[in-house]
Amino acid sequence: MAEQEIDVVVIGAGAAGMMAAATASQRGRGVALIDHSERLAEKIRISGGGRCNFTNTQTAADRYLSRNPHFCKSALAQYSQHDFLELVNRYQIAWHEKKLGQLFCDDSAQDIIDLLKAECDAGGTLWRMGTSIASVEQVAGGFTVRSSREHWRCQSLIIASGGLSIPPIGATGFGYDLARQFGLAIVPTAPALVPLTFDPKDLYGELAGVSLDCEARAENGPAFRENVLFTHKGVSGPAILQISSYWSPGETIALDLLPGRDARQLFEEAKRSDALLPNVLADWLPKRFAQAFCAALVDIRPMKQYRPAELEQVAARLHDWQVVPCGSQGYKKAEVTRGGVDTNALQSKTLAARNVPGLYFVGEVVDVTGWLGGYNFQWAWSSGWVAGSHA
Ligand SMILES: Cc1cc2nc3c(=O)[nH]c(=O)nc-3n(C[C@H](O)[C@H](O)[C@H](O)COP(=O)(O)OP(=O)(O)OC[C@H]3O[C@@H](n4cnc5c(N)ncnc54)[C@H](O)[C@@H]3O)c2cc1C
Repeated sequence: MAEQEIDVVVIGAGAAGMMAAATASQRGRGVALIDHSERLAEKIRISGGGRCNFTNTQTAADRYLSRNPHFCKSALAQYSQHDFLELVNRYQIAWHEKKLGQLFCDDSAQDIIDLLKAECDAGGTLWRMGTSIASVEQVAGGFTVRSSREHWRCQSLIIASGGLSIPPIGATGFGYDLARQFGLAIVPTAPALVPLTFDPKDLYGELAGVSLDCEARAENGPAFRENVLFTHKGVSGPAILQISSYWSPGETIALDLLPGRDARQLFEEAKRSDALLPNVLADWLPKRFAQAFCAALVDIRPMKQYRPAELEQVAARLHDWQVVPCGSQGYKKAEVTRGGVDTNALQSKTLAARNVPGLYFVGEVVDVTGWLGGYNFQWAWSSGWVAGSHA
């Protein structure tokens, strides 16, 4: 196969790769965008329940996990949530704010895919979908990229192949392997924004299906007050997905099931009543949950028959239920991958590898992981734009 020359090859036509290709090609660079999947940007399509939570108005570096918490600042400042929103508005895509600064499409995530595709087309990006990569080698002045369709020789190579979550729609460890090939370190990866599983003995049988306002915390992370959803396997819902990014196997999580309220005061007021304990709690918690939760700790009796120590035990557990999850639901259910290409090996202002001229890493493959709420797409847009501006 004859070698063809091009300025930039981008591997991975997801969120970050399309942004990088659009930016570089609109600067007048010749760009080939390669993806092994036949379908474009499947993760955008399924994101945000089909409506793509495309950014967050509160985007700031403290919403990201990374070994170097300052690394993402430069890219987020160079291309911010306001810049992406301006682009969305230019395409007249209808959107709304759901909660906590989370911006969603009114209609469909396809609007965001169409926007990025149009931006790539505006720059004349060459599309190479359904194309697998056979090898990448460094040569004088750049790289050779051998794909199943053609051989490219390029000056710049942008790796935007994403993380490991949801393998059936195209996730692979390609970016990590390529980073290792070029001597870049990888921060150990793990599923993040993922439901956690409990040992059945820790999960009271009838809790499945119950959803509650909760404040959840992992040992080494901030507290998140949002909903928690009990499932047959453990816990899910936004509060749990958030803390899962900070959780490691063997660590304890703590749940306050009555945040901002005081179970001790409630019990004090009702301590002489004939009402059953779960019925008292049912003012504040779903009845089914109150019943199962109390029954796991004490016999169900009228309030006036409890010793203070028994009520104290229930109150303490409600405000600080400590559980050691037995695992997570893994990459099959994780929204993102934590860890990735070590930011120490990259320049924060350009996303270029420090020791390999012309090589860039963008998006989820980098050790920058956002909270739930549109932060991961914003990182994809910001890092893709920055690399596309320099490659
Ligand atoms: C169910 C779900 C819902 C989500 N919802 C949201 C949300 O609402 N808001 C938000 O901010 N984030 C959300 N995320 C996270 C978000 O989708 C990712 O963080 C984001 O897509 C990462 O962008 P990326 O371009 O780095 O990787 P991706 O978008 O995953 O793109 C990587 C691309 O590389 C390609 N590729 C992989 N391996 C190879 C290879 N070997 N050769 C060639 N191509 C390859 C893939 O086919 C893919 O097209 C969600 C994730 C999931 C799974």
